[in-house]
Amino acid sequence: KKPVIAIDGFSSTGKSSISKIIAKKLGLIHMDTGALYRGVTYFALQNCTDENRNIDIQKLITNLSQVKLEFQNIDGELQLFLNGKNINREIRFPQVSDNVSQVAKEADVRNYLLKTQRDIAEKGGVIMDGRDIGTVVLPNADYKFFMTASQDERARRRFLELELAGEKTDIETVKQNLISRDKIDSEREVSPLKQADDAILIDNTNINKEETIGLILSSIKK
Ligand code: C5P
Repeated sequence: KKPVIAIDGFSSTGKSSISKIIAKKLGLIHMDTGALYRGVTYFALQNCTDENRNIDIQKLITNLSQVKLEFQNIDGELQLFLNGKNINREIRFPQVSDNVSQVAKEADVRNYLLKTQRDIAEKGGVIMDGRDIGTVVLPNADYKFFMTASQDERARRRFLELELAGEKTDIETVKQNLISRDKIDSEREVSPLKQADDAILIDNTNINKEETIGLILSSIKK
């Protein structure tokens, strides 16, 4: 039977890109759960804002049932659709990154997304990355990893990624967003970002993507 693997950790530690490669190597489905929280945030920015264009959380919660998110397999990659529209690019916009942690700390939002995540893992053969996969979403996962790296290294990586995608930003802005998200994610009451007791800690500040993948694969084979 194919394994269920949970990968949690801080922002920009390479969780998603590493999970994607491991999924390919082991023939698993990869689910980036952060995309779901980004999708809800994108919906809120479009439909649930106040007169200052800030997200109105109560309005969002009232309208949650209108947020139909689904992944579709496009060329072997799961892309996110909101009410039938592909929003894979839009969910990476800085405005979404700046607001997502405020949305993700709401218990109603988290409950709303729980079923989508658990359903995917039911049949096994999945690698899921996020913040609370090993602790809350899939506490019985076969393997759990928790990824961390220094703030500077993470900011550098995310900046390069955004630059490659053609987004205009600077490294200090990127770093401030990471720090602020990690703080809100770690301090929230529901499902805070933390290492599961039985998760393997990986600090990849000084190792590259291939070495990180090697570490994970060797723990899985044991
Ligand atoms: O993984 P990514 O950086 O795209 O996640 C965006 C945000 O979504 C995180 O900063 C966090 O607030 C939220 N999130 C979460 N639980 C998860 C995945 C993401 O709260 N399992």
